[in-house]
Amino acid sequence: MESLPIVMSSTQSPKPSAIRSLEDAVSRCQGLGMRLSRQRRYILELLWTDREHLSARSIYDRLNQQGKEIGHTSVYQNLEALSDQGIIECIDRADGRLYGNISEAHSHVNCLDTQQILDVHVEIPIEILQKIEAETGIKITEYRIDFYGHREVPVDL
Ligand SMILES: [Zn+2]
Repeated sequence: MESLPIVMSSTQSPKPSAIRSLEDAVSRCQGLGMRLSRQRRYILELLWTDREHLSARSIYDRLNQQGKEIGHTSVYQNLEALSDQGIIECIDRADGRLYGNISEAHSHVNCLDTQQILDVHVEIPIEILQKIEAETGIKITEYRIDFYGHREVPVDL
């Protein structure tokens, strides 16, 4: 079997370019023809400022604490619409959904002490990916790893 050259960079990917900032997220909405209501913008701004994984409930609470008028329903509907379009991240957990600002594939470090989820970008060595592909017959196009652990330095509360 003739081996194809391995493409190390993904610059020729046909997927739309990654969303790396609030401006990118806004222009993706516009590109998709999504209406950018004030409420929708509030949510995007909050996610890009706080850079955490938040429940709809805490997004609602934070926005209202900031004096931004937005109703529960609007928060839920906007989060659904934004995650359906791949503009924000949505994690399904047993205790509910969490939303984050990074929509492209990335990995998580889960802190077992605080239940915090930290975003990290991990690159698996190509040899390991090739080994997994050989074992499964599946060409890997993206991956997300979940790491779990305890803080090395206890959190001061
Ligand atoms: Zn994340």
